[in-house]
Amino acid sequence: MTTNKKILLCLAHMSGNERRFIDEAFADNWVVPLGPNVDAFESSLRDFLTGSDESLSRLRVAAVSSGTAAIHLGLILLGVTAGDEVICQSFTFSASANPIVYQGATPVFVDSEPDTWNMDPELLDTAIADRVAKTGRKPRAIVAVHLYGMPAKLDEILAVAAKWDIPVLEDAAEALGSTYHGRECGTFGHFGALSFNGNKMITTSGGGALICPDEDSRSRAVFLATQAREPFPYYQHEQIGYNYRLSNISAGIGCGQMTILDEHIAHHRSLAALYAELLADVDGVDFHGNPSPDVDSNFWLSTITVDPEVTGITADGLRLHFADLNVETRLLWKPLHTQPVFRTSPAYTNGVSDGLFARGLCLPSGPWVSADDVRMIVKEIKSCLKK
Ligand SMILES: *Cc1c(COP(=O)(O)O)cnc(C)c1O
Repeated sequence: MTTNKKILLCLAHMSGNERRFIDEAFADNWVVPLGPNVDAFESSLRDFLTGSDESLSRLRVAAVSSGTAAIHLGLILLGVTAGDEVICQSFTFSASANPIVYQGATPVFVDSEPDTWNMDPELLDTAIADRVAKTGRKPRAIVAVHLYGMPAKLDEILAVAAKWDIPVLEDAAEALGSTYHGRECGTFGHFGALSFNGNKMITTSGGGALICPDEDSRSRAVFLATQAREPFPYYQHEQIGYNYRLSNISAGIGCGQMTILDEHIAHHRSLAALYAELLADVDGVDFHGNPSPDVDSNFWLSTITVDPEVTGITADGLRLHFADLNVETRLLWKPLHTQPVFRTSPAYTNGVSDGLFARGLCLPSGPWVSADDVRMIVKEIKSCLKK
């Protein structure tokens, strides 16, 4: 079977409400950073993240120009400076680790565990102990990631972090709407980072947010994100700042996207459930589902692993097959400890992320993908398998 419709991995989808917020911004000449859309987007995100959880009432959100900027600001606020070491999940996108290097610090990579594909808490403990033994200093922070939206083993990771008294920055760039014990990912660490790039759960055409524990840390983040301008009648600067604030136009897109966030999350989850159901009886192909009832992934992307010994085809073979059909699939993230740019960084590995990279594939998800598309994709997977 061939298809003419191009199916992309995960494409942005406008609700139709975005234009209203943008038109208002134009009408009021708020075509600048800051403005009513930025405030509204931040409070809408905050309401979404905290829900009715009283224990999160102090939490605040700072809208910034990208998820990478959010991670960078979070690391600065955690005191990461030149010469520090920062632990980072190895199995992730490079943007989780790049801001560590922006600060002149060294990433120390920790491998994943097989249930969630995220940071292995036991290996994290081993890595910290070894860094302390080797350098005489503790790593300054831990960057934990919820990859593909799948929540990491937060209880265990936070327990190790507390034992060593090291703060955690949650990279929730892919995990908007994912929950752990019913609470939103991004609200567990000392800081959390979200991304609104074009291919994430919602988009502002480019943007991000730093989830902060309180108003004080949020205002420090906003201060740094607006060139660290001191309150003087002239431009006075006492530290290095950044131009990281989200514009009022982009935030208008974000306000529109918030009106359909719940629908988007439900759609991603329903596609994942369908992939899981249709692939359940396929030998050698495993759908990466929620490993326990404690976690509820947003299934930003649906992912599988393929055992070529059983199926007769590799994950990359499937990718090429789908490329011919105009269907975009993608291999999993290449672990950062294997990236040339990070070759001098210490790494604590166990083979899990290397194995996933060799066998895994991301399948199309998101608002433009239909249940019929999923049926077609699974049928095509089955047609490729050794009979
Ligand atoms: C997308 C992404 C980021 C960076 O977000 P940008 O908004 O693209 O800067 C960081 N970490 C992970 C895991 C991501 O997927």
